[in-house]
Amino acid sequence: MREMIVDLRSDTVTRPTPGMLDAMLHARVGDDVFGDDPTVNSLEEKVADIFGKEASLFCPSGTMTNQIAINGLTRPGDEVICEAGSHVYKYEGGGIAFNSGASVRLIHGDRGRITAAQVAININPDDIHHPVSRLVVAENTANRGGGSCYDPAELRRISALCREQFLKFHLDGARFFNAMIATGIDPRETGTLFDSISICLSKGLGAPVGSLLLGSGEFIHQSRRVRKLFGGAMRQAGYLAAAGIYALDHHITRLADDHVRAVRIGEMMQACPFVKQVMPVETNIIIFTLSETMPDELFLARLKEAGILAISIGPQSIRMVTHLDISDPMIEKLAGVLKQC
Ligand SMILES: *Cc1c(COP(=O)(O)O)cnc(C)c1O
Repeated sequence: MREMIVDLRSDTVTRPTPGMLDAMLHARVGDDVFGDDPTVNSLEEKVADIFGKEASLFCPSGTMTNQIAINGLTRPGDEVICEAGSHVYKYEGGGIAFNSGASVRLIHGDRGRITAAQVAININPDDIHHPVSRLVVAENTANRGGGSCYDPAELRRISALCREQFLKFHLDGARFFNAMIATGIDPRETGTLFDSISICLSKGLGAPVGSLLLGSGEFIHQSRRVRKLFGGAMRQAGYLAAAGIYALDHHITRLADDHVRAVRIGEMMQACPFVKQVMPVETNIIIFTLSETMPDELFLARLKEAGILAISIGPQSIRMVTHLDISDPMIEKLAGVLKQC
């Protein structure tokens, strides 16, 4: 029997299912730079409709959708307010500065989540010494928060504050659908709270490639220009869009299974003598710290020998993520391997 590889490094490692491949194979396509790809157009309409936004734009990655949003909502020298562990700040290669010339104000939140009260005290006064506070970014679910979810009431408060203070509000919703399944947060209401929203098809939803940026018609028109500038305008992208449509139709409700398996892994880790602390598991991400008796490199190496892959996200800090290609037998295999670590 072939060895079973249990790849818990990320929810980006999934392969298209036979149904998804079939949808891709039969996609109607055209040149999307001419606006001619019917499948891309229908994906963009479908996603805009889910969130009640006027328009959306299909892009190669979530990094690009975030960066296009930041570019469209700020001017050079402005300041972006976000959480210290947020993807836009920590995992996009310094893109806020490189692509948009904006500065960053970091908030140390609670498991990746910021509050309206924290935003309020980080808005600069109107004084020529300070950068102009222009944009607030929230991440839901928060990756480095262990897949933590926002209380919709807090997002309403931040949104109201942004309106009052003439700030823009962007949602990095790479894993929004995980939050929706876990908390019931309403996409339509979410659409009213944010100026722009980014969602990923290539995480828990299991598509091979793709993210969408959502906003007003005017904002998306401008974003289309920036996507071209960033080199992200694609031609017969309908083959990829078809995977996205399939993912939205078939892979949202099943995220609940990933969440159940993640809770189970969290419990297993909690029971390990060499695990110091496990962050609360709310969705499909498990983050835990190892005690000094178990160096992180050794732990990862032992797992790898047994065909289990995870990643380190800081000193003694390990992340595992459940997804479409993780099954119950794999979770049982992990349980067995942990006993021998
Ligand atoms: C994965 C991710 C993104 C986008 O990443 P890409 O790999 O560029 O698609 C953005 N935000 C968060 C929170 C993510 O986890």
